Amino acid sequence: MLDSLRRIVQEVNSAPNLDAALDVIVGRVCEVMGTEVCTVYLHDPVTDRYVFMATEGLNKEQAGKVSLSRDEGLVAQVAKREEPLNLEAAEQHPSFFLVPGIGEEAFSSFLGVPIIHRRRVLGVLVVQQKQRRRFDESEEAFMVTLSAQLAAVIAHAEATGVMFQVGVGGVRGTATFHGIAGAPGIAIGECLVVSQTADLSTVPSRSCADPDAEVRFFQQCLSHVREDIRGLAKVMAPQLRPEENALFDVYLSMLDDNALGQEVIVRIRDGEWAQGALSQVMMEHVRTFERFEDSYLRERAVDVKDLGRRLLTYLQEAAIDDREYPDQTVLVGEELTASMLAEVPEGRLVGLVSVRGSVNSHLSIMARALGIPTVVGAVDMPFTRLDHEKVIVDGFSGDVICNPAPELSQQYAALRDQERQFSADLEALGGDPCETTDGHRVTLMVNTGLISDVGHSLKQGAEGVGLYRTEIPFLMRDRFPSEEEQRRIYREQLEAFHPLPVTMRTLDIGGDKALPYFPIVEDNPFLGWRGIRVTLDHPEIYLAQVRAMMKSSEGLDNLRVMLPMISNTAELEEGLQLLYRAHNELLDEGFKPAVPLVGVMVEVPSAVYQARELARQVDFLSVGSNDLTQYLLAVDRNNPRVADLYHSYHPAVLHALKQVADAAHAEGKPVSICGELASDPGAALMLMAMGYDVLSMGVNSLSRSKYVIRQVSTAQARQLLDRVLELHSARHIQQVVDEALRDFGVSPMLRPAVVL
Ligand code: PEP
Ligand code: MG
Repeated sequence: MLDSLRRIVQEVNSAPNLDAALDVIVGRVCEVMGTEVCTVYLHDPVTDRYVFMATEGLNKEQAGKVSLSRDEGLVAQVAKREEPLNLEAAEQHPSFFLVPGIGEEAFSSFLGVPIIHRRRVLGVLVVQQKQRRRFDESEEAFMVTLSAQLAAVIAHAEATGVMFQVGVGGVRGTATFHGIAGAPGIAIGECLVVSQTADLSTVPSRSCADPDAEVRFFQQCLSHVREDIRGLAKVMAPQLRPEENALFDVYLSMLDDNALGQEVIVRIRDGEWAQGALSQVMMEHVRTFERFEDSYLRERAVDVKDLGRRLLTYLQEAAIDDREYPDQTVLVGEELTASMLAEVPEGRLVGLVSVRGSVNSHLSIMARALGIPTVVGAVDMPFTRLDHEKVIVDGFSGDVICNPAPELSQQYAALRDQERQFSADLEALGGDPCETTDGHRVTLMVNTGLISDVGHSLKQGAEGVGLYRTEIPFLMRDRFPSEEEQRRIYREQLEAFHPLPVTMRTLDIGGDKALPYFPIVEDNPFLGWRGIRVTLDHPEIYLAQVRAMMKSSEGLDNLRVMLPMISNTAELEEGLQLLYRAHNELLDEGFKPAVPLVGVMVEVPSAVYQARELARQVDFLSVGSNDLTQYLLAVDRNNPRVADLYHSYHPAVLHALKQVADAAHAEGKPVSICGELASDPGAALMLMAMGYDVLSMGVNSLSRSKYVIRQVSTAQARQLLDRVLELHSARHIQQVVDEALRDFGVSPMLRPAVVL
């Protein structure tokens, strides 16, 4: 059974469109189950009906023409109850309804299972038989398993189908894909799809202007790969047996002009660019090989992929510079990285859409810092086919609207302009203090490192840096930066903000932050070797960094040092000891830096419970709410599948935040927050009411948080907090906070901010 399942899913996966995919499903299910009928009904959200889409054994003529309402028949029952329905005699069931014209009169036994993707019922998969019998347990289990696996494929094919279907008058449809709001704002522009290096499955389809030149270019790359393989064969020859050596000849013949190479050339001549043609041809062959029963042949898929990657690498290396960025570029990709953003010419990047990622992945944080409307986790979007499509990115709702009708674009453009105006008005608050209507002051600081536009931060009224992420200078290189290189970079930050304080966090790699030259491969990276755990195991890295920080602060004395991912007191004690040792060494060497203020990041649940002990030993605490939320709720901050569960308004998170503030104050130490939560207007009020002394956030959120705090009194904020702390669900808290913001007269433009 497992084998049949795998084969069906693979075959469906490689079907060119939804209709073909459904035909494969119904045909194969009949074969494998030895049943007479298999039918797929899909839900049409526009008419709210279940459409008879594909069948084996019933009247195929009616496919796409007949449909059932939400209350009609057994199909609706299965969908409504979201459970299988297994009947020996369907006609005896009270909900039985004979669908006219499809020819199901003769069939008595019925097994229907719902097709559910991300909690949405997409449709129903049905098998029927003339003979009266209940389908047995293993058949039912097979159908349930198959349907669960097919759901994602169907959702994807459906979305792709809508996008590319041609409607009345030859106009293609508008398609909306739902992702997660990563950074607020509206962008209207043109997609530019970027692919990962040497990853065949992420290459966009794109047309080429000069097929002849493109063919020549492809042939050049082909000859490079041929040479590489011949070279490889020569080196390996003495170590391999003749039959193993023959594999290189197979490789070479695959690349022959009348084999794969020729297929790619045909597609280029049809107008596709070389990378797209190569990826399409290679992926089709890979799928064919993967479908083989014979395991030797199946393994050959690996060889085809390897060849494809080699070729793609040459094509990508040579092509990178001729990428044309539209004036209003919306960068689209499976996983966007900082360097992909950096390649877009200045002034052209208006929006980002990433298939992977979630609200607090580092891409989203960076996008918010840069003020670029962003949608992440758009998992069902057929991204490789969107190159140069017109698109609207709604960074408030998480929607991506492709090929929008002109009226819709106009509406969104109006919204975007309103939003821009509102932001400009907020910026005018720059010089005003961040204080409540009754004069309570809160210090607002900025998170830097991902970008650091110092002038912009100061203009917005930043009173220092609450979190400088030092990973960035480490990421930009192909080796660890030297102590002197670090000192220069840190000095620049300290000078730029002087005399305001700059809080530098020691290196926080691991989790989702990998250094290309120091790979950490783990099954469970967020629970693995991360942050302080790495640097304490490598004192040479830690010492060089804190030495560089302290040296850079000489004569300025505005440095604060912060330790990430502390989960017990021993880590803190070791970290402090090393820091003092580094300080003594510097004094011995003739430098005269002051001992910096040192703080602990509270971002692991154990640190919440030990906040008092930790606070006693340091000068301040700073909560990293991004990680604290993920660890308290056991929800990966990067995983779009569980994004709905990642909610910093969860009562457990709010109570933990309050507990940390109380613990710090009980020890007479100040407490700040440097996670993204501080940039949420409602949360900013609650944090202020909890007694947080400093709120640190991305520069683009500063004026928003300030604006909100200036609208309320401390009594109002405390009342809201007291009420919220009594509630038991994140959704309810969100509702109450939204209502309160409305009552406080906070502009609605501010309220659709990213829900954290
Ligand atoms: C956090 O976890 O909240 C934090 C500020 O650190 P980072 O987002 O860099 O992990
Ligand atoms: Mg963190």
